Amino acid sequence: MTPLEIRLTPQALTLVWPDGSATLSAQALRAACRCADCHAAALRGQAVPVPVATALAGLAPLGHYAVQLRFADGHERGIYPWPYLQQLAATQEATAANGPLRSGG
Ligand SMILES: [Zn+2]
Repeated sequence: MTPLEIRLTPQALTLVWPDGSATLSAQALRAACRCADCHAAALRGQAVPVPVATALAGLAPLGHYAVQLRFADGHERGIYPWPYLQQLAATQEATAANGPLRSGG
């Protein structure tokens, strides 16, 4: 499933799907980045370092399966396949329903 529409603001990415829409914040997207640097940090058991003032600066569609997001601080190697974004949105909703996100591990 590919989104019907993608809306980008510095604060958030909104995806419109045939069955609804989802908005993911710049912070959430940055924390979920899976580029080589962030992936390496995750493998070391570290949280992905998210700048306090994370903002989205742009996006580039990758074929019909994913989007590459560019952040204002120049971090731009994260690739977000549609199913991954749907999963993030679902997790975000579940988290919102269950109270604040717990930090740490
Ligand atoms: Zn990254």
